[in-house]
Amino acid sequence: MALSLTVDTDRWRAHLDTVVAATPGLVGVVKGNGYGLGRDTLAAEAGRLGLDQIAVGTYAEVPDALAGFDGDVMVLSPWRPFLTDAVDDPRVIHTVGRVEDVAALAADRPGSRVVVEGESSMARHGIDRHHLTDLVDALGDLVVDGVALHLPLTGGHLGEALGWAAAVQTSRLEAETLYVSHLSGEELATFRQRRPEMRVRPRVGTGLWLGDLGGFDVRSTVLDVHPVRRGQRIGYRQRPMPRHGHLVIVSGGTSHGIGLVAPRGAGGAVARGKALAKGGLEAAGFALSPFTITGRQRWYAEPPHMQASMVFLPDGAEVPAVGDTVPVAVRYTTTTFDHLTLS
Ligand SMILES: *Cc1c(COP(=O)(O)O)cnc(C)c1O
Repeated sequence: MALSLTVDTDRWRAHLDTVVAATPGLVGVVKGNGYGLGRDTLAAEAGRLGLDQIAVGTYAEVPDALAGFDGDVMVLSPWRPFLTDAVDDPRVIHTVGRVEDVAALAADRPGSRVVVEGESSMARHGIDRHHLTDLVDALGDLVVDGVALHLPLTGGHLGEALGWAAAVQTSRLEAETLYVSHLSGEELATFRQRRPEMRVRPRVGTGLWLGDLGGFDVRSTVLDVHPVRRGQRIGYRQRPMPRHGHLVIVSGGTSHGIGLVAPRGAGGAVARGKALAKGGLEAAGFALSPFTITGRQRWYAEPPHMQASMVFLPDGAEVPAVGDTVPVAVRYTTTTFDHLTLS
């Protein structure tokens, strides 16, 4: 009676083993909702894979990671003096990217382990290359585990990584390890050829945990079914139904992250125009749901509720029974499942 994810464990683990074998130095990223699988599941799996380091997103995620994993835990969010939940532990590696933070951490907690994050073309966090010397001067007794670069998902960024490696080597920063995010396998190989003296450690989440979804099965349970007539008003918003058919009430709603659309950039007007051109339910203000019922993705009868969704099934389609399950398309990084089964 729930939104459930069942994973074919043998197949998933075979994929994880392949990625780890093909990616020397891999740091497993275990953050957020644990890519839909939960951070505890991933931390345990990182242990099974023999990884020596995982990366979490925030300090709030550190205690669980330390409890569920025996190796080092890198925090991807930068350390700041105002953080109230920063965890001190010999296995925790802080990320620093501002001179004032380095000075404060060196004064407060000498001996802490840090990676120095360089500002990449992402422009999210990190030290500007021209200020690297000031940062090195402020390091004091901090222990530098390496330099980190978070690169954009699109485009080639090998040149950027090589440029940073050169900047590190000409600075007085003693770091032999470069942590990188989002370089392709080919780019990593080229980097190693060009900079054999540096150890490159890719930080990987999606490509590891969600790189083979063939053994993932997401199911929602049919909780109720009601026949409806064209024009009949239903739901919180009492919107009229476009045709005769059935309302199918399925488990899974906004509290699970179902039916939430990530913000999009441009193209809103174009998308709306296309919807009008296609006509039908989308033009009438209906939205396509992620639920597949009798072979087709069906339209929401109204926006999803917290724990359930109301889906319209037109006349002519075979009507499911209460208790049946139906497939759901989800975005794993924003979905919370009621049940996870590693089969
Ligand atoms: C989330 C994150 C990653 C992992 O990204 P994926 O696309 O899931 O592999 C790597 N590096 C940083 C800095 C991140 O925040």
